[in-house]
Amino acid sequence: MSEKKRFVVIGAGMSGILAAIKLSEAGQDNLVVYEKAQTIGGTWRENHYPGLTCDVPAHCYTYSFAPHPDWSAFYAPGPEIQSYFQRVIDDYDVRRFIQTDSEVTHCAWKDGKWEIGLADGRRDEADIVIAASGVLHHPRYPDIEGLRNFEGAMFHSARWDDALDPSGKRIGVIGNGSTGVQIVSALAPTARELVHFQRSPQWILPVTQFEYTDADRAAFRADPAKVDEIRYGEEYWNGVRRFTSAIVDPDSPQMKEIEELCLRNLEEGVRDPELRETLRPNYHAACKRLIYSWNYYDRIQEHDVVIDTSAIDRVEKRGIHMKSGKFYELDVIALATGFHADKFIKPTKVIGAGGQDLDDFWARRPTAHYAVTLPSFPNFFMLNGPTGPVGNFSLIDIAELQWGYIAQLMRPVLQGDASWVAPTREAHAAYEERRVEAARNTVFGTGCTSWYLDAEGVPGTWPWSYDAFADAMSKPNLDEYKFG
Ligand code: NAP
Repeated sequence: MSEKKRFVVIGAGMSGILAAIKLSEAGQDNLVVYEKAQTIGGTWRENHYPGLTCDVPAHCYTYSFAPHPDWSAFYAPGPEIQSYFQRVIDDYDVRRFIQTDSEVTHCAWKDGKWEIGLADGRRDEADIVIAASGVLHHPRYPDIEGLRNFEGAMFHSARWDDALDPSGKRIGVIGNGSTGVQIVSALAPTARELVHFQRSPQWILPVTQFEYTDADRAAFRADPAKVDEIRYGEEYWNGVRRFTSAIVDPDSPQMKEIEELCLRNLEEGVRDPELRETLRPNYHAACKRLIYSWNYYDRIQEHDVVIDTSAIDRVEKRGIHMKSGKFYELDVIALATGFHADKFIKPTKVIGAGGQDLDDFWARRPTAHYAVTLPSFPNFFMLNGPTGPVGNFSLIDIAELQWGYIAQLMRPVLQGDASWVAPTREAHAAYEERRVEAARNTVFGTGCTSWYLDAEGVPGTWPWSYDAFADAMSKPNLDEYKFG
């Protein structure tokens, strides 16, 4: 065994916390987790809009090693998930490794080590870097004329103003992805007027939400097998497998099943024929990220939410002007307009071996070998990096699978049999070629716009099944790697 390696983990969200726990458990405690914000939690710290709920069943959205019997509902509200991560870092004693207010601005591979630079001028050095900086964390502000002229309250969904009391307010929500749908569903009962600006309709898969009782929670605590029944049970996993089979083959029976469920939800859930047509998409279900909701259609009908599908012309001091000529006077504009999903670790500057700049390597599209490693970036591992699986399943499970792959790749380095590991350029190029070709044939590439698509319109995602990903992660093909 060689002396302990120095690990730098970037980001203390779900993936970074996982890395810290796994490293600490393996005795690798020469470790620091740099977090740019004031607290941990990533997505669950940044998002705190009304209605925020994870649409993965709560018991399935935990680390496999840290089940949580105390969820309040089948689908957990965001703040509870944030509390879960706060608790886990103490339960697993990794808070001591986390340095908040510590933004990594550059990583450069020099003389066999990573030089790390932080925004406040600090420097560090690492043998191994784990980039766990998240995906959806660069808010996308819409390019709408006059946006800055609005004199009411206006913010992106990931910058929600918690001081805002929505009751009695006239509120406009721009965007109807998973976020916009959750916000509108939550605000409908309290807002005085609510306008949902819908540029393109969305398919909605109906799901059932319910609260757990104290007796349920006591039962989960008394018998962990009851949690396992949900987490590892057929209902959830059949759903995951159905979903990923459908993504891979848009003509599959699985896709037909999903489409039928969404279609029936629309036909039976929306009474007014005109509204129904307004909400009817003209593309495959799951082409855009499929929305799971138990209350959107009901809420917009019960509370007379206005769904406006005509294009926004401009924003003025007091509201939004539509191209149709209609004007909505508003107190609040919420921008549920999504994220720049192609940035990953950017704007951190990453310079690999031979001066390879990650910006150049990603000039065409962000990519990583099996979503985890990068040629010319030795001992640099990404969790939930580019080309990983996305969809309506737990990214915690994805990160855990990726950790299994990373742990195997690092082993020779940790054992002193090698100083570094990186995939070969050839192996990565071949992977990426196969991936791009397969991705074009997934449902994401069937003719809708979404954050899944890169600048060339190619889905930037894992294009094969969930099981194929788990399989790939279970054993790295070492022939595709160089050890130095
Ligand atoms: P999104 O899915 O990218 O949706 C952005 C929305 O904004 C779309 O409806 C888009 O319309 C609209 N939009 C963007 N620019 C616009 C403009 N200039 N004018 C009018 N409309 C505009 O973003 P998101 O809803 O924040 O969701 C992002 C991802 O976060 C989700 O796909 C999901 O992965 C994750 N998420 C997960 C959960 C969960 O429960 N697990 C909850 C929320 C979010 P077009 O469709 O016409 O482009």
